[in-house]
Amino acid sequence: MMPPVFRFAPSPNGHLHLGHALSALLNAGMAKAAGGRLLLRIEDIDATRCRPEFEAAIYEDLAWLGLAWEEPVRRQSEHFADYQAALDRLKAMGLVYPSFESRAEIAALAVGRDPDGAPLYPGTAKRLSAEERAARIASGVPYSLRLDIAAALARVPRLDWQETGAGPGGEAGTVAADPAAWGDVILARKDVPTSYHLAVVADDAAQCVTDVVRGRDLFHATAVHRLLQALLGLPAPRYHHHRLLLDADGRKLSKSTQATGLRELRAQGLTPREVRRLAGLD
Ligand code: GLU
Repeated sequence: MMPPVFRFAPSPNGHLHLGHALSALLNAGMAKAAGGRLLLRIEDIDATRCRPEFEAAIYEDLAWLGLAWEEPVRRQSEHFADYQAALDRLKAMGLVYPSFESRAEIAALAVGRDPDGAPLYPGTAKRLSAEERAARIASGVPYSLRLDIAAALARVPRLDWQETGAGPGGEAGTVAADPAAWGDVILARKDVPTSYHLAVVADDAAQCVTDVVRGRDLFHATAVHRLLQALLGLPAPRYHHHRLLLDADGRKLSKSTQATGLRELRAQGLTPREVRRLAGLD
């Protein structure tokens, strides 16, 4: 049997903090216990926010923690053609349409919130005529590409996934996916030729990832990932969503909170062992 494949997939848009350490160490520990492989993937599709110095810092911080990963590291910015190919397949199925609204317009149109709490887009641009669409594209207005979720759901059976961690409400075991809660999700952003969802699904398949271990904040996104996997005929990995580390105010740690940055902790003289303990491991 092929060994299981795990991946840690940070974005180089800031320095790693204790929450990343928890995720990376859990991936490494689970890969080791299962006799599996550990991959590192750099999720740098957003050229305006990602920087080479943050990528270099990721390698340095992870090595300091004692992690080892396989080379070469996959960098998403080098694989836009793969995401385009996936997008083209969804387009050929008639599941993709352009939407031209600004953020403010979307907020005004919203029909509720998505699972991340963002305004839920009601599919307004789906109703544009082919001529109107072509005219707007020709005029040079920026547009994103969205998944027609109703048409997509009509093509796939009910979806679920195997959860070996737990969701925000304690969901575990076989979890029913509810991609409809996301509405017509963006597959390619106005400024980037893909989206987090499309790139992560394409890469997990391309890298033969069998086990996705990541923070609970991405639990609900798994429904979109399962839908894209089903549409594109890709295998479903097992999922393990782990607890999040919170700051003193009960908020998820962020890359701007210096207090828990791995560099800061190291500069204060903490050892990797102490960082493990701080993250609640050991
Ligand atoms: N790049 C994402 C992040 O840094 C993680 C994506 C994933 O593990 O699916 O939050």
